[in-house]
Amino acid sequence: MDLSRFERRVYTPFATPLEFAPRFTQALGATCPKGKGPRIWIKRDDMLGLFPGGNKTRKLEFLMGEALAQGADTLITCGAPQSNHCRITLAAAVKEGLKCRFVIEERVPNSYSETASGNHFMFQLMGVDAITVVPGGSNIAQAMNDVADQVRASGGRPYIIPGGGSNAVGGLGYVACAQEMQQQFFEQGIRIDQVVVGSGSSGTHGGLLAGFLGNRIQIPIVGIGVSRDPVDQEPLVYKEAMAVADLLSVGLTIPRESVVSVGGYWQPKYSIPNATMVEAVQLLARTEGILLDPVYTGKIMAGLIGLARQGFFKPDENVLFMHTGGLPSLHVYEDVVLGRENTVV
Ligand SMILES: *Cc1c(COP(=O)(O)O)cnc(C)c1O
Repeated sequence: MDLSRFERRVYTPFATPLEFAPRFTQALGATCPKGKGPRIWIKRDDMLGLFPGGNKTRKLEFLMGEALAQGADTLITCGAPQSNHCRITLAAAVKEGLKCRFVIEERVPNSYSETASGNHFMFQLMGVDAITVVPGGSNIAQAMNDVADQVRASGGRPYIIPGGGSNAVGGLGYVACAQEMQQQFFEQGIRIDQVVVGSGSSGTHGGLLAGFLGNRIQIPIVGIGVSRDPVDQEPLVYKEAMAVADLLSVGLTIPRESVVSVGGYWQPKYSIPNATMVEAVQLLARTEGILLDPVYTGKIMAGLIGLARQGFFKPDENVLFMHTGGLPSLHVYEDVVLGRENTVV
């Protein structure tokens, strides 16, 4: 599909690697029924630009294209206290010479700290212009509109980016990723049977799905919920994929049954560690030297591991794990991932 008609800034001047993970495959297989599991490949979107980037870098290429085309001078976005999305949005703002303000939602009560490390430290280091902290469950859209009013009142031109950069424009980043992967499958002669992706604010899952369907890539995608079970998550992804399809205006329809997600692995709560996450983070680090994060990719990989052990993937099937980034928050949970601090579940 032709994405060149959309405004875009390029923040990653290369295709992220698509790698086979032989030692992880072997270690996982040993724990699967009959000692045989799927072959695991990893799409290294933890190596995207605006380093240490992650999936939000791809969405921001298109969001920033639109913001600059509209003449914005201040970005406003929102997220949790350790938001990767906020950190990457700020990096894009700094790079483009724009100002940047956050609305931080304290989803876990008292989790916001002025002196936190990880992403929060980077907010300070890169010079965020203002942070408004609101309690979990607040009307975030309203809170961002209020900040936009303040910016306008002082003569600025605000551009609001929704949580996770997940709207139709942001989702184009993962349509572009689908096209990048299609080219890699062809060039590297790789046949992938299933793709495993994290499913949160849904721009990644929904955009990738629209990109696969639009490019006739017939590989099923399974989303691992990072904050919701399928009954709540799938409608969000469906809506996002349809919004992206509408924006593409190529007559693409999204079958509802193409939206598949798995729940449970995010428990007990978004961003709260669990034992399967710790196992996943340790296993990939100790077999491939690749780092996952405790909030997203650790739980997403735990989902892949769990599905493999349940026989959801056939032995020797090629399964692609989308590594969506998140490294900075690993430092906030060092004791947990090393097993020095017990997890609740
Ligand atoms: C935001 C994020 C996700 C979830 O992606 P969505 O597009 O919000 O569904 C997954 N992994 C990491 C590291 C993230 O920061």
